[in-house]
Amino acid sequence: MKKTLITVGLLLAILVGCATETNQVEGSFHSPKRGSTFVKKEKLVIRREETNIYSQGIDPETGLYIVDNPDSIMVYVNKMRELPEGYAPPDLTEADVLYYAPVGDNRRLMREEAATALEKMFQTADQEGYTLVAVSGYRTYDRQRVIYESNVANNGQAHADRYSAKPGTSEHQTGLAMDVSVQGNDAVLLEQGFGGTDAGMWVKENAHRFGFIVRYPEGKTAITGYSYEPWHLRYVGNEIAEDIYNRGITLEEYFGFHYPGSEEEEN
Ligand SMILES: [Zn+2]
Repeated sequence: MKKTLITVGLLLAILVGCATETNQVEGSFHSPKRGSTFVKKEKLVIRREETNIYSQGIDPETGLYIVDNPDSIMVYVNKMRELPEGYAPPDLTEADVLYYAPVGDNRRLMREEAATALEKMFQTADQEGYTLVAVSGYRTYDRQRVIYESNVANNGQAHADRYSAKPGTSEHQTGLAMDVSVQGNDAVLLEQGFGGTDAGMWVKENAHRFGFIVRYPEGKTAITGYSYEPWHLRYVGNEIAEDIYNRGITLEEYFGFHYPGSEEEEN
């Protein structure tokens, strides 16, 4: 195993990935507690050949890998991997579920296959006693760029990198992510406390049955680059979701990424 370890000169800002967009929503939304979710800067060490998976090369402007399969349900973006500039997913549609965002809002949209799966999950949750709400799904490339650039202009680069995802790196741009919550409990809306509610626990233990994973699990911040987000679901299809659930891993680990601390397990 003579794989070369490279240090990516990326200081990870650990933050709530969905925070910025949520604040744009009208109504009685809770602002995520940013101060409490910023953990610390960490260096992410990865192997180049594994980072390179499904990539068409490095973006000279950002230094990030550009994914080569943005339309795949296996598309894999994170703080080191971005969607092609201007990417817009095909077949965006609205699931027949309960929403927070008003009619016509992009946040009600997901890719068709993911929307169908979301409907099934919400129906099953309802039958088992939990009324889930879809909070925030699709976000356009331009929307993410506006959010990021205005943050840079107003607060500086370092702050922006800490609190906004760079355009192209938000999973919400794939059309395969949906932030969910439970009806009637706004105190846990996009809060880590959602994970401790009965509904949040149901989501954690059942999302895989419908092809979803909790993308940023508890205790995996050093791997995903994001704080625990029990509300952020990512559609990957049943097979991968079951595998990830059963093995208790992240999408990063599924694709073979290895990080300091996981070396022993290999030998
Ligand atoms: Zn999210």
